[in-house]
Amino acid sequence: MACGDVVKLVAALMRTRPYLPQIHVRDHGKMNIGLFGGSFDPVHLGHLLVAQAAREELGLDRLFFIPAAHSPFKPENRPAPASARLQWLRLALAGQTNCEVDDQEIRRGGVSYTIETLRDYALRFPHAQLFYLIGADNTAKLNEWREAGELARLAEFVAIPRPGGMAASFPPPFRGRMLQGFPLGVSSSEIRARVRAGLPVDHLVPPPVIEAIRAARLYV
Ligand code: ATP
Repeated sequence: MACGDVVKLVAALMRTRPYLPQIHVRDHGKMNIGLFGGSFDPVHLGHLLVAQAAREELGLDRLFFIPAAHSPFKPENRPAPASARLQWLRLALAGQTNCEVDDQEIRRGGVSYTIETLRDYALRFPHAQLFYLIGADNTAKLNEWREAGELARLAEFVAIPRPGGMAASFPPPFRGRMLQGFPLGVSSSEIRARVRAGLPVDHLVPPPVIEAIRAARLYV
């Protein structure tokens, strides 16, 4: 490579800003546990990128994906069967270190309230720091969630950025921060719409999950 090309290459590299997470400084000996709730209808690569960023930036020892039976914010929704959403999550997370699927909200059934789940984690891991991951578009209304004061006491809330989205704001008494990486403009609704329209979703969903969706003939 000519010298001029090397100079151009280095200049180009310096213009790109690599994603280097600001690693969370952990409390002495405290376990950091991340909780990621949602419909996961279906799980997609946006969710997996969130998981990776959260593990790095929050120094998580364990990250639990917790699919809701029924979201209190989507009352008219009829999600894909819980068994299918669980199976897709397990396929998507196979081989991922420190990521687990927790089916407690599905076992409880009915509307899934985060406070019940957080209480369960606070009991099981009384000495851990709990982080609850939430879309940045949802933080402003956190104080409308059931038992908001208790929620804020039990966990630190972490906003997940979406491309072009605004910075998250946390109403008191919530303590929160924003993840830095890696925003990806994809949603489960978009994936369902693409499957329905017969469009490819290979770039948005892990391959074993696509196969399972097709085998179950869902979203058609
Ligand atoms: P839907 O399109 O059906 O509303 P969704 O893609 O937003 O679904 P959920 O399963 O409800 O997915 O999401 C769980 C959590 O993950 C929510 O807090 C949501 O804001 C967040 N999330 C979903 N997709 C992304 C993404 N691409 N980037 C960052 N966060 C996301």
